[in-house]
Amino acid sequence: MGNCNGLPSDAGGASGSASLPPTNGLNIHPSEPTLRGRQPASTNVVTRPISGVGRVLGRPMEDVRSTYIFGRELGRGQFGVTYLVTHKVTKEQFACKSIATRKLVNKDDIEDVRREVQIMHHLTGHRNIVELKGAYEDRHSVNLVMELCAGGELFDRIIAKGHYSERSAATLCRQIVTVVHNCHSMGVMHRDLKPENFLLLSTDEDSPLKATDFGLSVFFKPGDVFKDLVGSAYYVAPEVLRRNYGAEADIWSAGVILYILLSGVPPFWGENEQGIFDAVLRGHLDFSSDPWPSISSSAKDLVKKMLRADPKERLTAVEVLHHPWMSEDGDASDTPLDITVLTRMKQFRAMNKLKKVALKVIAENLSEEEIIGLKEMFKSMDTDNSGTITFEELKAGLPKLGTKLSESEVRQLMEAADVDGNGTIDYIEFITATMHLNRMEREDHLYTAFEYFDKDKSGYITMEELEHALKKYNMGDERTIKEIIAEVDTDHVRFLYPLLVVIQIGLSFHIFFKHNCFKKILNIGTHHVATL
Ligand code: ADP
Ligand code: MG
Repeated sequence: MGNCNGLPSDAGGASGSASLPPTNGLNIHPSEPTLRGRQPASTNVVTRPISGVGRVLGRPMEDVRSTYIFGRELGRGQFGVTYLVTHKVTKEQFACKSIATRKLVNKDDIEDVRREVQIMHHLTGHRNIVELKGAYEDRHSVNLVMELCAGGELFDRIIAKGHYSERSAATLCRQIVTVVHNCHSMGVMHRDLKPENFLLLSTDEDSPLKATDFGLSVFFKPGDVFKDLVGSAYYVAPEVLRRNYGAEADIWSAGVILYILLSGVPPFWGENEQGIFDAVLRGHLDFSSDPWPSISSSAKDLVKKMLRADPKERLTAVEVLHHPWMSEDGDASDTPLDITVLTRMKQFRAMNKLKKVALKVIAENLSEEEIIGLKEMFKSMDTDNSGTITFEELKAGLPKLGTKLSESEVRQLMEAADVDGNGTIDYIEFITATMHLNRMEREDHLYTAFEYFDKDKSGYITMEELEHALKKYNMGDERTIKEIIAEVDTDHVRFLYPLLVVIQIGLSFHIFFKHNCFKKILNIGTHHVATL
């Protein structure tokens, strides 16, 4: 399908995001083993601090190479080179995108990288989005350590295969549009959807797809209008070329990908960039050449509706996922579409108070880049800028994310998120209830929470310390506190280990190991964990 040329950079655009040249990155060697899953207990290699604050991330610099060993190159784009890296202790493999800071010459370049990190943090936890493990900045580069997608780019898979059967195209399309749905409901527009930016987790035929490269993504609110000319020529929507667009442009790009999946060639083609743009603006779809005559009319119907010139008439992500062609063959068709923020709030609702309080401690200690997306969301719901979200604001705000809820459901969420029970959701409560639970697994976060509870630095948490923490966070009266404690302390153990209850096994052992309490934990802790 030829080269996917980037668009010229737009000096006049608000963010001035630059063009992306072809990123037909090298394929990962098929025999590369993939090690996945949570990091086991003893993973702690202290990242070597380097003096000074990073110019991009704005926090103390750290040497990524003290934790990871760099291996071969996996792919490269305009700013970044992605390497295979291995964790020194666990030997687990990841991908690390290294962005040379000397290439970030102006403020916009720096802003773009910063936003890429923020957006990856914001979206983390979705099964079709590459998970960011950590971001490090040293004197020369910003390093994004991500889960490894050993199956290479969707782009290369299409080249190798020619095109897909309708059934497999539907499966891939569903994952692509699920990503779009997730991004949009989280207030993010991707702006650079193309097969190079979807990676396959493994080399298996039915490997899941993962979206990557949020380098051109932006936060948006419903109604925002964007003008920057960014993206890649084949996938760019006509309204982007006219410099007046919103999140619908992502659906167009997904429609182009679907057309390519089904036929192996891009729908809008030209000898050069201008030729491609002209074809995009003409918007004519060729359904007469091979293999289109043998493709079902339902598939063509969906392609047409995703590639409608008028963004207002184009299907939304939810509508695409409900299109009959998506359900005809697929198995995932019955799964209800979740709004990430809502799912997170519901998970939060189901937690015991102790876990909630630990999360709140963690929420208070998250870095700006980890919560900026949720902060934006909070601000968009807090319409009167009072610093708190009322029931009415929540009821009006959730539908904007693309969901309809009954009055009683909103009420339930309100009550769940309102940890201190004062009738409104404050900023920290909102972050607590909507951040992804994998934040808890992060060792540094856990450690902070543990230290918070363990006031006397004894290495374990006493009943008194727990009571103190619960009171501080207004977790209820004396009786409620006793109840919570009883809930945790099923064995009437003298020492309480809230975090053991709060978190998954591996890391908590490590924490206690650090605190020389592991024997006690092994005796009693295992039972606690087993019963959770
Ligand atoms: P750029 O912004 O420079 O385009 P990308 O994030 O798209 O950077 O990464 C460039 C290439 O590196 C990708 O197209 C892919 O081939 C490879 N790559 C990126 N992330 C991963 C990952 N998590 N696992 C494996 N390969 C990756
Ligand atoms: Mg890329």
